[in-house]
Amino acid sequence: MAVPESISSLDPANWSELRQQGHKMLDDMFDYLENVSERPVWQPIPEAARLPFSERLPAQGSSLDSVHQVFMEGILPYAVGNAHPGFMGWVHGGGTPVGMLAEMLAAGLNANLGGRNQIPVEVERQIVRWMAELFGFPEGTSGLFVTGTSAANLIGVLIARRRAFGVEVRDDGTQTSNNVVAYTSAAAHGCIEQAMDIAGLGRKHLRKIPILADGTMNLAVLQQSIAADRAAGLQPFLVVGTAGSVDIGAIDDLDAIAALARREQLHFHVDGAFGAMAMLSPVQSKKLKGIELADTIAMDFHKWLQVPYDAGFLLARDGELHLSTFDDEQKTYLARDTRGIAAGSPWPCDLGPDLSRSFRALKTWFTIKVYGAAKLAQVIDHSCELARYLEQRINADPTLEMMAPVNLNIVCFRLRCPEDVSNAVADAINRELLIAIQESGAAAPSSTKVNGHLVIRAALFNHRSTTADMDKLLAAIARLSPGILAAHTL
Ligand SMILES: *Cc1c(COP(=O)(O)O)cnc(C)c1O
Repeated sequence: MAVPESISSLDPANWSELRQQGHKMLDDMFDYLENVSERPVWQPIPEAARLPFSERLPAQGSSLDSVHQVFMEGILPYAVGNAHPGFMGWVHGGGTPVGMLAEMLAAGLNANLGGRNQIPVEVERQIVRWMAELFGFPEGTSGLFVTGTSAANLIGVLIARRRAFGVEVRDDGTQTSNNVVAYTSAAAHGCIEQAMDIAGLGRKHLRKIPILADGTMNLAVLQQSIAADRAAGLQPFLVVGTAGSVDIGAIDDLDAIAALARREQLHFHVDGAFGAMAMLSPVQSKKLKGIELADTIAMDFHKWLQVPYDAGFLLARDGELHLSTFDDEQKTYLARDTRGIAAGSPWPCDLGPDLSRSFRALKTWFTIKVYGAAKLAQVIDHSCELARYLEQRINADPTLEMMAPVNLNIVCFRLRCPEDVSNAVADAINRELLIAIQESGAAAPSSTKVNGHLVIRAALFNHRSTTADMDKLLAAIARLSPGILAAHTL
C-alpha cells in the first residue's frame, strides 16, 4: 500500500507566512494589553454577536488570518474584562504579558505534565518547594497543580478522607462512613460543600459554623458542635478554615483552628484561594498566622498572583499521605522504571485525578522568576491600599454606606436609600445600580449578600488598578444613582 507522504501534516506549507501571521497575532495581543484601559471594562453583547457561534461544524478549513479576524472582532471585545483595571467583580486576576508569553511557550512545547522523565515536571516540583518554603512546610511536602481552588479543595477533602478511614476507603467506598462530620464556616466557599458531595461523604455531613461580626468562624460554636457530634456517636474528621472569604475577605483565626484540630485530631485544611498569596507580603502575612500549621492548603495563582487562567494548587504537609490518596501500582500501562522516559516516579498523576495535564507550572514559574516575590508582594499590598482608599472615599460620601469591614482587598458597600424604603426595595435599587455600572463600561464590581443585604462588592485583584479606577467607579455611581433612586421611590 502506498502511503502518500506527509499529506496529513498540520504544519504550514509556508513557514515564513505563518511567522508573519504569528507576529501579527502577538502584536494584536500586546496592543490589547497596552491599551486595555481605553476600552469599556465590559460591554453588553448584541444578539448578532452570538450568531457566528451557532455555525455548523466546518468541513473545510479557513485561513488562520480570517479566523484570527473573527477572534479580534467577535471574541476579544466581548470577554468579561478582567484584564481591565476597572474590573472588580468576583475574584479575578488580571493576567500579565509575561504569563501570556509563557503560556505560548508551554503550548509550543506541548508538554504533558502527567509525569515521566522530563524537566517540565521538575519545574512543577520547584514550585512545590517554593510554596513549602513560603508556608513553612517541612521536607517531604508535596503539591500539585490543578484547575483551581475548587479542585484543590476537593483534593484536600479526599486526603482528609483517606487519613480518617485508612487506605481501604479507596477500595470499599464510603458506605460505612456515614457517621463522619466535617466543619467549616458559614462564609466558606460553596465548593467545600461540593467537595463533600463529590467525595461521596455527603453535603449533610458538613457543618456550617456561624460567623462572628468580623466574618470569621465562631470557634466557640465550632468547639461545642464537635463535642455534641462526638456525644451523638459521630466521627469528626476535618475542619476547613478560610484564609480570605469570598464575600468580604475575612480570615479565620487559623492559629486557633490549628490548635483545636490538633487537640481533636482533625485534618486541618485551609481554603486560601486568594488570601494565601498574602503570605508573600510581610505586611499582610501576619493576618495568616497559623496557616503554616495546616495539613493541606488550597490556593490559586490565577487570582492575586496574576498568572493567566488556570493555575490552582494544592500543598500537602504529608507527601506520603497525599501519594497514598491517589497512587495506583496496578496501572501497567503507566509502569515506572529507573532509567529512560518512564523514570522519575512518583509523577504528578500519582497525586491527583488527572493523567494528562497542561504545563501550568511554566506560566507560574515565569511569573515568579520575572517579577520576583518582592514585586508580587507589592501588587498585593497595593490592592489592600486601594481598598482602604475606596473605603475612605465611601465613608466620606453621605450617599453611600460601608457594609462590611475591609480585611484585605474587598470593599462591600451600598447606596443609602431613604428610611421608608423596605429592605427588598433597597436590594432592588442596589442590584439595578450594579448592573447599570457594569453596562456603563466604567467599572465592573459584582454583588454579594452581607447580613441579608445585597451589597455592591469591589474586589481589587487587578495589578493595573489605581486610585483613578476607584474614582471612576464612584463617579459612575454618582451619575447613575439619582435616576435609579427616583424610579424606585416615586
Ligand atoms: C475563587 C475561590 C474559590 C474557587 O476557586 P476556583 O479557582 O474558582 O476554582 C474557592 N474559595 C475561595 C475563597 C475563592 O475565592
